[in-house]
Amino acid sequence: MANWEDHIITYRRDLHQIPELGFNERKTSGYLTETLQRLGLNTVQIADTGVMVDIVGNRPGKTIAVRADMDGLPIEEETGLPFRSQHAGVMHACGHDGHMAIALALAERLTTDHNFPGRVRIFFQPAEERPPGGAPGMIEGGCLEGVDEVLGLHLWANDPVGTVGIRAGALMANADQFTIRIQGKGGHGSEPADTKDAVLIASMIVVNLQTIVSRRLNAFDTAVISCGAIRGGSTFNIIAETAEIIGTVRTLSQQVQDKIIDEINHMAKTTAQLYGANAILTYQRGYPAVINHRESVERLEQAIVDIVDVFHPDPAMGGEDFAYYLREKPGTFFFLGCRPVNETFPHHSPHFQINETALPLGVEVLHRGVSRFLQGY
Ligand code: MN
Repeated sequence: MANWEDHIITYRRDLHQIPELGFNERKTSGYLTETLQRLGLNTVQIADTGVMVDIVGNRPGKTIAVRADMDGLPIEEETGLPFRSQHAGVMHACGHDGHMAIALALAERLTTDHNFPGRVRIFFQPAEERPPGGAPGMIEGGCLEGVDEVLGLHLWANDPVGTVGIRAGALMANADQFTIRIQGKGGHGSEPADTKDAVLIASMIVVNLQTIVSRRLNAFDTAVISCGAIRGGSTFNIIAETAEIIGTVRTLSQQVQDKIIDEINHMAKTTAQLYGANAILTYQRGYPAVINHRESVERLEQAIVDIVDVFHPDPAMGGEDFAYYLREKPGTFFFLGCRPVNETFPHHSPHFQINETALPLGVEVLHRGVSRFLQGY
């Protein structure tokens, strides 16, 4: 067994035990730096806790970058694994420990054989889970300088080991948040005629918002509007003066995103006006959509099609700050199947687990991807 194959499970389990929240990945950053330096690589600290290395080939050529995210989630781990989180209330419950292990093993593999043209840059990014995300700071810090293409992956527990889900165009969504604040007029529950019932108006707005996707969008456009919370009122005999609706919007293009913002604003305001009240929309655009570049996707697919089962999934409506890199450079983000042998728990569950046999496969996929790009065929 090659060294990197031998080490990859250790990397993953070591990192799994020291999960840290976004922008606070100090131990993680230290572990990555030490491991990379042991391989004889010069590490660069970037975007506070981020880490970057260049592995240079034995002749000139292009540069391809590989990104791994570093952060855990505010979840108390309940897997009962012997290598479970040693940090109370924090857990690698999305697979980022696996992403880092794959990237470390890829670095190790590339350092054992410099027989390639150009350069592979591997960078570790803080705070994927925490908007505004670590990616903008990494870009500001120069992680894409001189880079011709960028690759990234996400372990995907719903898909079996041995699969790669890959797709040209939109793979993940614009992931936005909104708040609608309704200003009505409170009063006695027995005398509604004197009031403008903010709870009733909030309810009407929630119902009306559900007609945007079904009646205001083209049938071939994709979007989700979900109202996650209504807050308002205090008790049974008081009509609420104010209420608040909090929700999320997921779209795959800016055009649809802009249209939905207009529609939400219009519906909230006019619905409130209908009952003599006011509504104010606060809309926060989150991570942009992950848009893969066709040429990059096709090249990667050709490089890996004989070692994994490649399929073309529907886009996932989750968000991912890898999107920022793809706005700057051509590249591909893909899903690496890691379904456990036993029960599968969703990403972000306190019971979340990955199948570690997916990890060496991730290295193989990325190695083939970067090699094919650098060899220029
Ligand atoms: Mn994730």
